[in-house]
Amino acid sequence: MRKNAFTFIALGLLIATTSTLSAKTKVIAHRGYWKTDGSAQNSLTSLRKANAIKTFGSELDVWLSADGVPVVTHDRTITPNKLVIENTPYAVLKGIKLSNGETVPSLQEYLTVAKQCKNTKLIIELKSHSTPERETRLAEKTVQMVKLNGLENKVEYIAFSLHMTKELIRLAPKNDVYYLNGDLSPQELKEIGCAGLDYNLGVMKKNENWFKEAKNIGLKTNVWTVNNKKDMQYCIDNGADFITTDEPELLQEVLGIKK
Ligand code: MG
Repeated sequence: MRKNAFTFIALGLLIATTSTLSAKTKVIAHRGYWKTDGSAQNSLTSLRKANAIKTFGSELDVWLSADGVPVVTHDRTITPNKLVIENTPYAVLKGIKLSNGETVPSLQEYLTVAKQCKNTKLIIELKSHSTPERETRLAEKTVQMVKLNGLENKVEYIAFSLHMTKELIRLAPKNDVYYLNGDLSPQELKEIGCAGLDYNLGVMKKNENWFKEAKNIGLKTNVWTVNNKKDMQYCIDNGADFITTDEPELLQEVLGIKK
């Protein structure tokens, strides 16, 4: 009887510990939730879909058009004519169709939808531009637009460019800013004021100690782009705070998250 009671308590503790550990890792939909009906990468629908399945975050990529309008799209160039975003005016960009029939959204259109998305934060990636001046201009515009839309508490920022990262820390000191490029240690990131590291899975596997090092100095860890169960489990077991994935529903299943 006693032995049974002990086993029961031990099992209960084990389940409680496991679920606490799992609950810690949060899901970020990479370029929104796009691998689903009617969606497309970086579309307004992908943000709505991420919100509908209640991911913690929905990531998006932002470029500055030639005439200074922030637009949501990933590559340096855009099809069909391989136009360089930085050299193309917004009037041209806004007519370009995505694979789901929507057109390239402006950041303002994205923020308008974000206001209706109560479950999901925006993880805003500002892309690396041709000059530091253009990066500063994009950082200033973005932070100002987020403020004007009353979304300061609903955004985090990420960037590959160290200049962009530092500008975001300067302009939005209350927001979490993460560095993507994988070449700085947790200690170095802490010194420049980052909230944490947002690194490629391969980088984290090569520097596995960074999971613990980051935690020990109060930094958070986000890993991208993690799309299969085995790698998801690897990140969870190492205590990743966030996982960025193209498969948010699969990750929710691995984490045992009920929607
Ligand atoms: Mg991105």
